Amino acid sequence: MDETLLARLGACTHLPTLPAVAMRIIELGDDPDAGIGEIADVVCRDPALTAKLLKIANSPLYAQRRKVENLRQAMMLLGLNAAMTLALSFSLVGGFGASAGGLDHLRYWRRSLLTALASRTIGLQAGLGQHREELFLAGLLQDIGILVLDAAAPQDYARGLDACPGHLALAQAEQAVFGADHAEVGSWMLDRWGMPEYLVLATRFSHALTAGALADSGENARFFACTTLAGWLAEVWLNPPDEAGTARIGMLAQDLLGLDAAAVTALVDEIGAQIPETSALFEIELPDAAQVTAVLDHAREVLMVRNLQIVQEAAQARRQAEHMQERARLLEERSRRDPLTGAYNRSSLQETLASEFRLATEGNWPLTLAFIDLDHFKRVNDTFGHQAGDEVLCEIVRRLNAHIRCTDIVARFGGEEFVLVLPGLRRNAALTMLERVRAAIAAEPCRLAEDQQVTVTLSIGIATHGEDKPYESAESLLRNADRAVYDAKRNGRNRVECYRDD
Ligand code: GH3
Ligand code: MG
Ligand code: MG
Repeated sequence: MDETLLARLGACTHLPTLPAVAMRIIELGDDPDAGIGEIADVVCRDPALTAKLLKIANSPLYAQRRKVENLRQAMMLLGLNAAMTLALSFSLVGGFGASAGGLDHLRYWRRSLLTALASRTIGLQAGLGQHREELFLAGLLQDIGILVLDAAAPQDYARGLDACPGHLALAQAEQAVFGADHAEVGSWMLDRWGMPEYLVLATRFSHALTAGALADSGENARFFACTTLAGWLAEVWLNPPDEAGTARIGMLAQDLLGLDAAAVTALVDEIGAQIPETSALFEIELPDAAQVTAVLDHAREVLMVRNLQIVQEAAQARRQAEHMQERARLLEERSRRDPLTGAYNRSSLQETLASEFRLATEGNWPLTLAFIDLDHFKRVNDTFGHQAGDEVLCEIVRRLNAHIRCTDIVARFGGEEFVLVLPGLRRNAALTMLERVRAAIAAEPCRLAEDQQVTVTLSIGIATHGEDKPYESAESLLRNADRAVYDAKRNGRNRVECYRDD
């Protein structure tokens, strides 16, 4: 947060303070020995709070067969965490003093309560039911920065706030005046109050949940997605969003939680249905159903149409991007391949060879190269034609590929000459493997068109780096493999020879 604003807030003597009960609950939350008994002790001193917890424990949210009669039972049913979170929520609403600058507290808590309700409802839909009370509380607190900014600038804030047509406009105006919006300020305040980190972060992300923040949030990512979406969804009841606003809600729902337009309208209906109960429980009048029906109908319509459009556009853009990526990948792959046989071409052989040579040297493992030259290949062309010769070259590459491991590569060095790069293979193992390749190819004639066939044999020379002879460069390794081919030719062709110094 901006330094000047920090200094201003730090110097402010009348920042909102937590209600006493809330403070006590947060302390208990930090105390590892605190159990249901301790929390119950705090809550039962406040009859209104007790009644609310009992009411919630008996509500359909915690559907159970037996009626819960007393606070301890309620807390057992809710669980320690949920009970504390709920007690905190109840003690916070309306628990802050009046504003010096005339901020409309009722309106403030109305929005917070709607956000809280939305957050819980979205969470239930998104499969985060076990965190429903935390979601509620995070929604309830996400605009707490408004109370802080109002305390820091009582003269102007409320007036400016009234002039802002919606939540986005408000956040932008705050940025312009204070250099931070109430999401940032709120998360700072919550942190100072010693609230759990998930509340601090949910508030900080409440206006904009970036892809980076989502990625860093790990298993909390969906939680923050719910609380952020809730803040925008609450706008539906407060400042009926225009088309752009409604479309933003649709897009956020899609991006953050994968919810389509139908799911969002179902959410809006579900939240609407819960309004009366929440309103009664927190004793805050929320917009009633009749009041918002018209607004909702409009929003629903826009959501449906715009969302459909957006989803279609997004799907098309995604397809296009995938198509382009695939093309780029193909082109790149193609530029590395020999067009006739599909083997790697000479320039990619050079690259691969250089990197494999470096890796083998650094990793201290052997690297074997096999240089392969087809025997009397000119005769194949002379007898069957050039096209048949091409077919044979392709067939040989297919067979070579069938014999190597996925970490090896076959490259066409040029003409009827190929190089196999065999990382990690020792000379003897390479010799055995290449002997098998040679024998297999010599034993099975290549079939040509018009029922013709031709037997092709290979002269193979191998050189190994790093076993008993470390080479200085990839080039000298390749040169010696090539020399070994000459030995193979001289010794009668259809043979494998290893390079030897002597
Ligand atoms: P050796 O056993 O001594 O290697 O005999 P060779 O005939 O294979 O050797 P030489 O180097 O004299 O001839 C290579 C032949 O390979 C000549 C050329 O026509 C043929 N060749 C090279 N590239 C291609 C190609 O892309 N397609 C076809 N069909 N033939 C090719
Ligand atoms: Mg040759
Ligand atoms: Mg040849």
